[in-house]
Order: sequence, then structure tokens, then C-alpha cells
Amino acid sequence: MKILVINSGSSSLKYQLFNMETESVLAKGLIQRIGISGSFLEYENNEGEEVLIEKDIATHKVGIELLLETLLSSEHGVLKDIDEVEAIGHRIVHGGEAFAESTVIDESVIKELEEVADLAPLHNPPNIMGIKVCKELMPTKPQVGVFDTAFHQTMPEKAYIYALPYEYYKKYGVRRYGFHGTSHGYVAQRAAKMLEKDLSELKIVTCHLGNGASLAAVKNGEVVDTSMGLTPLEGLVMGTRCGDIDPAIIPFIMEKEDLSAAEIDNILNKKSGLLGISGVSSDSRDVENAAESGNHQAEVALEIFNYRVKKYIGAYTAAMGGVDAIVFTAGIGENAIETRAGILNGLEYLGVELDEEANDMRGKEKVISKSDSKVKALVIPTNEELVIARDTKDLVN
Ligand code: AMP
Repeated sequence: MKILVINSGSSSLKYQLFNMETESVLAKGLIQRIGISGSFLEYENNEGEEVLIEKDIATHKVGIELLLETLLSSEHGVLKDIDEVEAIGHRIVHGGEAFAESTVIDESVIKELEEVADLAPLHNPPNIMGIKVCKELMPTKPQVGVFDTAFHQTMPEKAYIYALPYEYYKKYGVRRYGFHGTSHGYVAQRAAKMLEKDLSELKIVTCHLGNGASLAAVKNGEVVDTSMGLTPLEGLVMGTRCGDIDPAIIPFIMEKEDLSAAEIDNILNKKSGLLGISGVSSDSRDVENAAESGNHQAEVALEIFNYRVKKYIGAYTAAMGGVDAIVFTAGIGENAIETRAGILNGLEYLGVELDEEANDMRGKEKVISKSDSKVKALVIPTNEELVIARDTKDLVN
């Protein structure tokens, strides 16, 4: 069974084609700059052949047509007939309260997704666009939606209701939803496997630390709290997002700098975080390099990043009444050796002892705590596309 996984953004579209018999990737890549000059499609097949097609890609439809052509190409293609693709799985950022698990997409699902679109105005409309284009180009193929918010829907009210007038929850759905759920769910499950324990017996803090970053408290296989909120802005320090701040700072700066709501929103989402503090870059590697050459703001940015994660680990340990494992994933979590050490050093009181030697590696599944550490620390590369493909396979079967 072959499944195409699509992550459709506003001007880009990521894809992977899976062979589900072996759970292997037949082809993967990215379409960039849709509707902008200089658009292109990047493609790599399972033989490692790489193709770059620079071409005017005015719409998502043109992009997906070009992708299907490339998958079928006699030179680098991996399909003889498009009918070999049995189903399509879509990443959808916001499922609101309507979707607590992955779902087969029909007209009523599209309608519900359109209704929650104002909760994720940058993400859901292009996700829906991807679904509609696939429906147009491959009308007989079942399509499945996998939601970033779904895994977090087990949170209790005390974790998701904000201390605001309750009517905003009722009228507008203002509550904590959480994001990166597919990733948190995947690494929690892998951690249980690696520790040879049942997920339903474990208390795990999963740390998804990438350009966007969030933590989840996963108790007995269910999320009891997570750091992102109504939108992916709350919580940790991120590449360009501020995470937690005193909300009174917002009207204060708006007044001082004469900013509109859209302008302050842009500053909090695009100009803050590691970039805002360091003044150097949103990329943690650039910030690390600057810190190494003595840039004070870069040093402070990294310290705040680690300190915020450390505080959340403490909070989630309290929320779960203990912790058995701390898992690191995503670009920074999988690769940044000093960041992992900076977060875990000082948490010995919780029972976690970092093994500096085991931690000295990037991008591999590995236990990085000492063998006698009461709390285990693990690095687990995330694989959201595989989860989407698995859920799609399960649902269409
Ligand atoms: P993601 O959003 O998951 O792709 O993660 C992006 C972040 O991961 C960026 O801040 C990168 O600097 C960071 N990252 C990726 N590779 C490395 C690496 N080898 N060492 C340190 N950080 C890395």
C-alpha cells in the first residue's frame, strides 16, 4: 500500500510517499515559493537521486500536478500509475475541539475545518487548500486529516481553561489547544518501547525543541498539559516567538511604539525569541556560534531558552506527581548537545543523571542518562510523516 503524505503551507508544500508494507519512504521533497517568483520543486527518490525543477508554480494545484508528474517520470519516478497511491494523508494544524483523533475527510469535515480556520488563520486555510486540490486531482482516493492539536485533547479543564471571562471560551473557543501533538505522541510511544515499558504506566515529559518548541506532560499515555496554547505562541522561547510573557507588556509596548494589533502580533511571532534577544539569528546554531565568540546577548538568549525548558520540566513533574522519562526531539532536541546538557544539568534532584558521553551525539535514538539514573533521558528523532501515513493506512483499511 502506497500513501502520499502532504503538509500544505501558504507558499510551500512538503510531501513524502510511503510504501507501507515496509514503512519506507519512496520519495520526498518540498515545493517552495508557490505563487511567488522563483518557485521550485525539490525531489529525492529512494535511490538517493535528487531533482530540482525550477518552474513557475502559481498555485497549489499547479504544484501538486507537478509533483504527480515527477512521481510518474520515467527518469526518476517511483510510480508507474497514479492509481498505485491508495490514499492521501494531510497534516492539519488546528482541529479545534471537534477532532480528538485523525479522521477520514469528507464534505462535512471540510466544513468543520473551515469553521475553526480563524483559530489558525495562517495554517488551516492552506491545509484545506491542499485537501481540495488533492480531491480535484485524485477524486477517488480517500483522504485523511491528522491534527497537530488532536493528541492534546485529553487535557483536563484545569489545564486548558484560561483565567479570562469564561464567555470567551464559550463564544470564541479561547482555550489551550497545544500543537506538535503528532510529534509528542510519536516520541512518547517510542520512549515506552525503548524503555520496554507500557506507555500506560509511564510519566513522560516530551520536549519538542525546534524552530517552534513545546513541551507536553504525558501521563499514562495521555496529555495532561502542554506549553503551547490557543496558538503556537505560548510557552517556550522559540526561534522568533516570545513564548510566555506578562500580557500587560502588549498594550504597554503598543502604546509606547504606536503599534497596531497586527504589528505587535508580528513582533511577538516573528521578531522575538532567540532572534529578538540575541539580535543575531533565529537559528540556534548561529546563536551558539555568536555566544562562543563572546556575544553577551547570544549567551543570554541560550540561557533563557534552557531555563524556560527546565522550569516547564519542573512544572510538569509536579503536574504528573513525578516523572519517569524526559525525551528530546526536533532540530534542537535531536542535535544540540550543549542545550540538552544545559537543560538537564541541575535537575539531579528530580533523579535524572546525564551521561555526558552518551549525550555527545546528534540525530540518533539513544538513552542519554546514566544507567543507574532513576529518571531516564532520551533523544528520539521525530517522524510526524510516518505517523500521518500510519493513521491514514489504519483509517482507510
Ligand atoms: P526544526 O524546526 O525541528 O527543523 O529545528 C530547527 C532548529 O534546529 C534550528 O534552530 C537549528 O539551528 C536547530 N538545529 C538543526 N540542526 C542542528 C545541529 N546539528 N546542531 C544544533 N542545532 C541544530
